[in-house]
Amino acid sequence: MRKWLLAITAAAAQCFSASAAAVSSPPMDKSCPFHHQEHPREVREQTQSAEILPHFLDTVAPHIREIYRMAAKNSALLKYIACYCGCGEKDHHIDTLSCFIFKEKPDGSIIWDKHAAECGICLDTAKTAVINYQSGKSIKEVRRIIDERYQKGFKKPTPTPLPD
Ligand SMILES: [Zn+2]
Ligand SMILES: [Zn+2]
Repeated sequence: MRKWLLAITAAAAQCFSASAAAVSSPPMDKSCPFHHQEHPREVREQTQSAEILPHFLDTVAPHIREIYRMAAKNSALLKYIACYCGCGEKDHHIDTLSCFIFKEKPDGSIIWDKHAAECGICLDTAKTAVINYQSGKSIKEVRRIIDERYQKGFKKPTPTPLPD
């Protein structure tokens, strides 16, 4: 119990110092080719279910909305897929699902995250993962495909656990 509490405190402290650092960093993200101008961080919106997409997707291209739908339907898969866009270090994402969905609540409502709508790497990762999964590959195989696809020339992956 005591250990558990300590771990939580340490994680909270880490999170705090990381977000403090983020505030002082320049708003323009030159490292991401998909971001051409300053973008708001962590835009989130809650809807009642995975069937209802957030308003921040109203104006994006239809294929982006489609990938958000795919991500919501395949959350159990994307929890095991690492993201290589750099969001692990910058935004504390833990897996590819975090790039689309901040939280799936027990009552079925979803807190969506806007990050992936503006990130080609996240969109490609989720789409590639879901297509491969739907073609019959196991979560483990899909994880390997994504890890190989993004092995070279990309950022450090999110700290995503491997599937059993
Ligand atoms: Zn990501
Ligand atoms: Zn991303």
